[in-house]
Amino acid sequence: MSNQNSVIAFYDERMLAHEPDIEVPFLPGRMDKRIRSLLSGLGVPWHYPEHPARLTAIRHLLELEPVPGVTFEAGMAATREQLARVHTLTYLDHISQLRGESAWLDEDTTAVSPGSVDAAEVAAGTAIAAVEAVIQGRAESSFALVRPPGHHAEPVRARGFCLFNNVAVAAAHARLALGCERVMIVDWDVHHGNGTQDIFWADPDVLCFDIHRAAPFYPGTGTLEEIGVGLGEGTNINVPLPADAGDVAYLKAFREILVPAAEWFKPDLILVSAGFDPHTHDLAMNVSYDGFAAMTGILQELARQQCGGRLVFVLEGGYNLISLSRGVRTVLKVLAGNTPPTPGLRGLSEVEAATAFHRSAFVTESEDLAAPPDAGQERQ
Ligand SMILES: [Zn+2]
Repeated sequence: MSNQNSVIAFYDERMLAHEPDIEVPFLPGRMDKRIRSLLSGLGVPWHYPEHPARLTAIRHLLELEPVPGVTFEAGMAATREQLARVHTLTYLDHISQLRGESAWLDEDTTAVSPGSVDAAEVAAGTAIAAVEAVIQGRAESSFALVRPPGHHAEPVRARGFCLFNNVAVAAAHARLALGCERVMIVDWDVHHGNGTQDIFWADPDVLCFDIHRAAPFYPGTGTLEEIGVGLGEGTNINVPLPADAGDVAYLKAFREILVPAAEWFKPDLILVSAGFDPHTHDLAMNVSYDGFAAMTGILQELARQQCGGRLVFVLEGGYNLISLSRGVRTVLKVLAGNTPPTPGLRGLSEVEAATAFHRSAFVTESEDLAAPPDAGQERQ
């Protein structure tokens, strides 16, 4: 460990009340048919993958193996005014009417239980709390451990387990209430953050950088050509990758695209839509814990150069509970001051030591460059 930095992790039990019940009848008619055919195509008994244990697994790991320098704080509920900066009032009214209900919102399996709307308001408000802590200087960096996730939620539509776009609500709050002029959002979740892109599509003051598995992988957007429009043209950057891409590709994109973009944009705050589903244990990519650590290290250095170190993580996806919780802990360790390891080098020094240990068993020094002593005779 090098210098210890102050980091606040935000966690609030009210977000555990979002627990959609898959037995609740679907929407009537055509959508019911489509959802049932989608679910039957999965070929396994289906459960709602975005469940409360995602958060409790993280909390339990951080209790068992605390990270020095990281303290916990509770979150807060976002107000209607804060949510309305990125969602339409019609949409907010629709979601609000679902308070206390069980319902399906979208054919892509987004659903709510009676506690979901309150939980979603706390998720968005907790992302705001994490930004306020950093802007007020109470911590250099922070991590909002939230669910339901947010980056698929569009101004008028819930999608992909997301109700409110937490990171977008936090970015809008930083811009409109906390005096930030330019905010950069880095989305490394394995899925493209279509909602975040949509919300800031024409906004020149919010730069979105999104690295993800390429379409047709869900949600099917995020091509290179999607660069924003109007005054916002050029402030939307997508890096679509093939399945199984890993640390080397992610870090090359960070160093050669994200860093120069940030140096050009000069943000006052960097937000991260941090999904842990690019991990090898999860869906379709090969990012390692060292890869997450190295990406965090690059962002931390960038934030220190550009905006006084102000760096806020907001949890998105990640469905394998081990890689999700270990991934979050890996990020927190770097934020708190640990030097990130270099991906791809783990085990190399051990192999060098093992090589030296075993080499004498099958190679002698005199044999290194010469032919075997009796080779000439054998050839005759
Ligand atoms: Zn995801």
